[in-house]
Amino acid sequence: MNTFPKAILYTRVSTFGQAEHGTSLDEQLAACTKKAGQLGAQIVGHEEDAGVSGGLYASRDGLQASLATIEAGQADTLIIANLSRFSRDREHQSAIKKRVQAAGGRLVFCDMDFADTPEGDLAFGIMGTFADYERKVIRERTVKGRRRRAEEGVQPCRNMSPFGYHVVSERDVLAGLYPAGTVGTYQIVEAEARWVREIFGWYAAGLSLRQVAQRLQDHGLPTPRGGVCWRPKTIKWILENPVHKGMATFGKFERQVDESRLERGYKRMDFNRATPEERWVHIKAPALVDEHTWDLCQERLRGNRNLLSGNPERRYLLTGLLRCPKCGRRMRGIRTGRGGYTYYRCVYNNASACSAGLVCSPKHFRADEVEACVVEALRLVASGPESVASAYAVYDEQRRSAPNAAAQERQSLQAELTALASREQAVIEAQIAGVQSGADPAAYKAVFGQIRDRRAALQKRLAELASLAPPIPEANVQTEAAELAGRLAAIVEELLASADLTNAEKHGLLTRIIEAVVPGEEKVRIELKPSSRQTVTHVCMWVTVAPPRIVRVEVKHRAGAARVP
Ligand SMILES: [Zn+2]
Repeated sequence: MNTFPKAILYTRVSTFGQAEHGTSLDEQLAACTKKAGQLGAQIVGHEEDAGVSGGLYASRDGLQASLATIEAGQADTLIIANLSRFSRDREHQSAIKKRVQAAGGRLVFCDMDFADTPEGDLAFGIMGTFADYERKVIRERTVKGRRRRAEEGVQPCRNMSPFGYHVVSERDVLAGLYPAGTVGTYQIVEAEARWVREIFGWYAAGLSLRQVAQRLQDHGLPTPRGGVCWRPKTIKWILENPVHKGMATFGKFERQVDESRLERGYKRMDFNRATPEERWVHIKAPALVDEHTWDLCQERLRGNRNLLSGNPERRYLLTGLLRCPKCGRRMRGIRTGRGGYTYYRCVYNNASACSAGLVCSPKHFRADEVEACVVEALRLVASGPESVASAYAVYDEQRRSAPNAAAQERQSLQAELTALASREQAVIEAQIAGVQSGADPAAYKAVFGQIRDRRAALQKRLAELASLAPPIPEANVQTEAAELAGRLAAIVEELLASADLTNAEKHGLLTRIIEAVVPGEEKVRIELKPSSRQTVTHVCMWVTVAPPRIVRVEVKHRAGAARVP
């Protein structure tokens, strides 16, 4: 019987190879071979994972193959250079160790001996924790480094350049295509840029996304990804990318890795998770379109979102604008037998309307009533814009006081946290004194619990305050109110000037000023559309149905609302 151990060698380098010097695959292999010699072991194989993170387990093919060799009984010793080559995830470390031991094998590291004793297990645990910690530190350092570069105006993501630009990579500089020092900057590619300007120009001038796509198609221009078929969606992506107005972004998505995705049938284990807007970094780029054209296009895109396509001649006045008060979905106009009126109702008004058989609300709203109410409300505001102006003023007032309120609350929370810390210290001292004089240490448990809970509550609230939207930018709200009122008045004038406008034409006018209409029993809520230049994002009016009267106007920014009764 052969008593020599049979060894399988395993080596790995990660994608962070450069950060972990002295650990090339060759060096590892040399160390492992030497170790096998010292053990007097016969080497039966060598597996390696190149460019694979030590945070992975199931998708490390080399590791899985070495484990399979041991489990098949072809080897009994797994030799690895050190623990960080083995695994940088604590849970995986124990899992792999268990698999090796279950198969009657053993793990051997070149730089350290872990004896099969409680002390050995402890050392393994501690060293494993360090390897895990190191992986997290390396990752954090990489993430921070990329972020810092973005903040310095250098785009760390250079594999995909937006249409009209080239993001300079190191390779470009080495090839002499761009001067040194331009790495990570956006350079205009004139052959594409001129089409970007055309796209924005055409769309701002009123062409539809489909028409713009058709024009490019007619010119035989290749698509951004080298295809031949321009789609409306591609045009929309280009129109929505703020790089074209000179503001590129970094950090919109965060790469996440989840090995279990492979088991669940996904093709890749990594995926991108959208990050909140306050974590985006803006990088300056040369603008291809001026701000006015950009704003015009964004306003049109915003309008498109809520509108139905279909035959414009048959369109009801508020199609696409009216929202179900219960579920917020679009409401559809219908002509029914009920007294010969036209009604709006939720698209899910009965079980047969929805494939899942869901019913939202069967309620019908008389179209003539809602429409008259909306038109009259607009007319009222156009003739007396004071209610809107004062809502803007209230909003401005709140905007000024809001940051102060938050700052005050933050201060008092921090004061309480400090007080809590000294109280805790006092209790600790009391507990020590109490224990020395024979008291039960558990008697203080409840007090510590209280302190801990209170501290958690305070910290939670502080975090909430910190995550509040940043202060609303200074703005001249009077100008903004006047801008909205002026636009509204112009639309109302056009709306009422001619009696023979078709519904489609009236609809077109209304969509320029109205974001949404939500009908109710007594009141109708009308959400107006402030222009994209405004700091205000929502202007809401509540209007009674009979007779139409404006009962409330509310002006909002993402951070808060102001009301005028
Ligand atoms: Zn509904």
